[in-house]
Amino acid sequence: MKPTSYDIMIVGGGMVGSTLACLLANGFANHTQNKKRRIALIEAFEPVDFDANKPYDLRVSAISRISQQVLQQAGAWQSIEEKRISPYEAMHVWDATGEGKIHFSAAEIGEPNLGHIIENQVIQTSLAEQAKHHPAIDWLCPNTLKELKIDDDLVTATLDNGSTINAPLIVGADGARSQLRTLAKIEVERQDYGQHGLVAVIGTEKPNQATAWQRFLPTGPLAFLPLADGSSSIVWTLPADRCPAYLAMSDDKFMQSLGEAFEHKLGNITSVSKRAAFPFYGTQAKQYVKKRIALIGDAAHTIHPLAGQGVNLGIKDAAELAKQLLNSTSTDLGSLKLLRKYERARRGDNVATMRAMEGFRLLFGHSASTVVNARNFGLNALDKMPMIKNKIIRKAMGV
Ligand SMILES: Cc1cc2nc3c(=O)[nH]c(=O)nc-3n(C[C@H](O)[C@H](O)[C@H](O)COP(=O)(O)OP(=O)(O)OC[C@H]3O[C@@H](n4cnc5c(N)ncnc54)[C@H](O)[C@@H]3O)c2cc1C
Repeated sequence: MKPTSYDIMIVGGGMVGSTLACLLANGFANHTQNKKRRIALIEAFEPVDFDANKPYDLRVSAISRISQQVLQQAGAWQSIEEKRISPYEAMHVWDATGEGKIHFSAAEIGEPNLGHIIENQVIQTSLAEQAKHHPAIDWLCPNTLKELKIDDDLVTATLDNGSTINAPLIVGADGARSQLRTLAKIEVERQDYGQHGLVAVIGTEKPNQATAWQRFLPTGPLAFLPLADGSSSIVWTLPADRCPAYLAMSDDKFMQSLGEAFEHKLGNITSVSKRAAFPFYGTQAKQYVKKRIALIGDAAHTIHPLAGQGVNLGIKDAAELAKQLLNSTSTDLGSLKLLRKYERARRGDNVATMRAMEGFRLLFGHSASTVVNARNFGLNALDKMPMIKNKIIRKAMGV
């Protein structure tokens, strides 16, 4: 059968791939000569319908203000807001070894909040709603990419249902284990952190104070992210070999261990949901682009989630690639010259953020007394420097 032709194919309708599809579709609709452009968005799983009566999902992301703006441009923010979001107004970080601590507050920089904690499902479902209703997007779901044929002027993708589609450009937004990246023979540099992140939703004796709490333990950070109903979503970084024991523990024992690890900052832990864990590793694709191919989001890079930046970087990738494609005067959207502009604009930021996270991880993992003393001194000194502190927080927020 003859392949169906598109202008762009996007593999992966997760948070990043769907953002790109919506940005492009909205952008094309505003250009007279691009009005007829068509996008195929291929996603393996239908996103779950949001149900406000259901408890918070285990997977949440801290969404920065810049990502909020991009999601607004994508047309999904209002729907996200109507479902369920949890603004956070402060961030408190402290060192388990010593007295070092630092506090960031939205009020200090004249902002209403520092960002929002949002369930990944809420973001993905809201973007999928947009994509499904946009006349320029064909939402191909549930479908997976199986084979790829790259010719000089066209890429042809074969899907699991046997259908074939083609376009001058294919974008991989299919996550850390990107099938497109493998089929395109793009290698990745990978660093295994030997850590897992245990996630759960927990209740505490005291309210969360709309504050993101993070305690740096020698084994890794423990984060409590505030949810609007007063509970918290936790990400507890644990050595990979010790994580299974924490997953298997009785609820009572887990709550006691968690409370101790958190120094009972919000009183006793009063409830815990089911628990899940994810391996943490850092990756960088050696190339983000090849002729007719571009990688974005986790398909291009993953980082340690200790500062909650992974999807925010991916959303910035989507915004940059959309900008380059929408502003291009070239008739060939898959030209290497055009795609390289995207890679040049994004790789530096992604690598720098990855290195910074890596630096924090190593710095706080050190137990030598000289490092501990210097680290605690540095944290406390920085806490007393509002100008620098505000600059850091504004950079993290993207404002
Ligand atoms: C514990 C934990 C906490 C985190 N917290 C934060 C945080 O607070 N803030 C933050 O910014 N980031 C955070 N991250 C990182 C963030 O979750 C990821 O960066 C983000 O999910 C990447 O989005 P993505 O769309 O690129 O990839 P994914 O979310 O992996 O989406 C990929 C999509 O592609 C689909 N797919 C895969 N293969 C195929 C195929 N062959 N064909 C078709 N479809 C396919 C999948 O079904 C999926 O929908 C965290 C990560 C972890 C593990």
